[in-house]
This record gives sequence, structure tokens and C-alpha cells, in this order.
Amino acid sequence: MPLTANDPSRKTWLDTPPNTDFPIQNIPFGVFLTRDDIITIGTRIGDYAIDLGALHQLGYFSGIELTDDIFLQDSLNDFIADGRKTWRLVRNRISDIFLEGNNELKDNTAHCNDILFTLDEIEMQLPVDVGDYTDFYASKEHATNVGSLFRDPENALLPNWLRIPIGYHGRSSSIITSGTPIRRPVGQTKPGDDGVPGFGPSKLLDFELEMAFITTDSNDLGKRVSISEAEDYIFGLVQFNDWSARDIQAWEYVPLGPFLGKNFASTISPWIVTLDALEPFRTEGPVQDPAPLPYLQHGKNKNFDIELQVAIQPEGGEETVVANSNFKYMYWSMAQQLTHHTVNGCNVRSGDMMGSGTISGPTKDSYGSMLELTWRGQDPITLKDGSQRKFINDNDTVIMRAYCEKDGLRIGFGECSGKVLPALL
Ligand code: CA
Repeated sequence: MPLTANDPSRKTWLDTPPNTDFPIQNIPFGVFLTRDDIITIGTRIGDYAIDLGALHQLGYFSGIELTDDIFLQDSLNDFIADGRKTWRLVRNRISDIFLEGNNELKDNTAHCNDILFTLDEIEMQLPVDVGDYTDFYASKEHATNVGSLFRDPENALLPNWLRIPIGYHGRSSSIITSGTPIRRPVGQTKPGDDGVPGFGPSKLLDFELEMAFITTDSNDLGKRVSISEAEDYIFGLVQFNDWSARDIQAWEYVPLGPFLGKNFASTISPWIVTLDALEPFRTEGPVQDPAPLPYLQHGKNKNFDIELQVAIQPEGGEETVVANSNFKYMYWSMAQQLTHHTVNGCNVRSGDMMGSGTISGPTKDSYGSMLELTWRGQDPITLKDGSQRKFINDNDTVIMRAYCEKDGLRIGFGECSGKVLPALL
């Protein structure tokens, strides 16, 4: 099915700011609460939120097979479960409705009043009810840096890393949407000379710069997804901050891996940008040497060129950009991650979320965590107000941004931000 919505020459009759993350070629999906306190599924063009529940009730999706209440829900799970053909039909139709020259909705003021909201009239919610959340560890630079810091610079990359897209099962109850403050976690830390573990607020609170993809139902229990089909089951992506308490993590992670150092909060950007919208930004990933086992081998251009940025904003102050990275640095692609996840017959469902793992680039300013940027505090970062950071302070806001840009077309994710509140003692 043609992705007419991706046509770069398309313009919308809505007023959109220049350089917006949300041109008519984006058409992401999200869930929001309207000024009338109604929850609905929507999309966004420029700075307008568009109520898809109302559009559907008013007949604008006629001819597309959709249940009556598909958009009148508090999550996208059912819509995502309808599969890629439906996502494409709906996205193409939305594009047509708002296309310059199509006056059907534009000239109907009553309908426009029901459908269009300004951003200050809505409150974004979590876009999906995340059943299961998996976090990978797929950036070679990040794994090498962390291996050097936590273990041994001589053997930073463990032998399985180049063979397996390493991951672990995270926790979905603490996934929150951008703008929700987080609490500094309390926990145990490595014992000092007396052999007794420390206990208290984490002193080494960090962010992890990640992207995450949202799946549809991909396989029944016991079956697996082939690498050639894997992308068919990826609905779209969000930006993702996998908050991490490094001191809690360092004490607890042997032998079973991350636990309370990671599961106290994970922030996602609220608009899911579809894999279809990212199609023009495909690029080749890093060379994989040794070659992966055959079940993980795929064709070219399975990575995506998405610019990533992290900024820290102290309370009442100006933000300082502390890292610039790119999603294309991922060693293991999303297709390889999903294929590997199901190779043992583990079933993946609609609304599951898979984090990329921290995305660090090759240079020091492209590292995706404070742990790496300050080399565990040895080399603090100076913010614009002159204050220094080894890790994240109370009342700091961490702001992540992600966007693609090519030949004048920009597709972005908006913001993924969260403010750190002091620990509850
Ligand atoms: Ca992570």
C-alpha cells in the first residue's frame, strides 16, 4: 500500500510553525484528555491536537474497516492490534483530510470546533497500556564504556555481546509520560569498610538516552518472528529516558542484572511516531563483525538516522545541552531485537515496548548517560549557570529531543522530559 502520507510535497491547510516536529508528513498517534475531560486517541499536526474519536464519529473514516469505538479508548492497544494495513489506511486518510485544497473539514466550522484542540487545551496521557517492557543493550559504544567503568577496560565487551542482542525484562508499571516528575529513589548501595551496605537516597542518579519501539501482536506462544517480517510488527517509536540509579545498580546487578536501580521510573515521549513516517530516514547500521547467526541476518538500511539530544535545566535556570547522539549508532537493529526476542517462542503482544538501550556515539559529547559523559564523576559538566554536574541533582529537569531531517523534511518526537524531586525519607 502506498504511503501517500509521506509525500514530501504535501502541505496542510492548518497553520503550522516553521521547523515543527509535526508536519503533515508525520501524523503520530497519542492519547489525550480534552478540555471537556474526555479521553480520546488523537494525532498532531503543527501545534494542533486532532481528536480522532470525533473525526470517526463524524464519518471522516468511512470506507475504512474500524470498530465504532476504536479511537474512544484510553490506549492505542486495540488500534495497534488492527495491524499495519489499518495503520496505513488511517494515516493516509488523516493526511488527505488536512491536505491543502481539501475543504471538506476546513469549511465546516462546527466540525473543526469538535476536532481541533490547541496544545494548552489537552493533557497528554500514556499512549499505550504497556503489557511487557524489555530493555536492550544494543549500542556497542555504551556497552564498551559501561563494561570499562563497572568491570574491566581490558575486557569491556563480554564475548556474548557481539553474538546476541542482549536484553532484560523491565517493569511496565513505572513507565510514565513526558512531564511527569520523578522521585529520587532510595536504596542499598555498596558496603564500605565495615561491610554494611549504605542506605538512603541515590547519590548517582542518571538518565539513559534511548529510543523505544512499540509492537503489535507478532507471534503466538511457541512460534517465532522471522527477520524478514520483523518490521511489519513494529507500530512506531517514542523517545525514552530509562532513569538509572548507578549506585543502587552497581551493588545489586550481579548476578541477575538490573532491578531497583532501573525500575523506579522510565519516561517516554507521548506521541508514537510510526515506523512508516520514518521510512525516508533509513540508513545503514555499523558493520557487524563477526557476522550474526543466520536467523539475525538482514538486508541493508535497517537503522534510522534520528538526531538525539539531552539537556539539563536547573530549577528556574536555562537549559544546557549535554549530549548529542544518533539512533543510527545502534549496533543491533530493531528488526534483530524483535527477531531475537521471539526466537525461543516468547510471544510479543500489542502495546509491548522495547527500549534500545542507551545510545552512545563514538565521541565523548555523544555519550547517552552522565555515567559516560563525566566518566563516573571524574570529569564534571559545567552548566550555563556555572554550576557543575557529575550526575542529576534534585529539581533538575532532564529534557530529551529526537528528530530526523533530510531534504527539507523534518519529522520529530517533541520532548521527553522529567523533573527530579527530592527523595521521600
Ligand atoms: Ca537502559
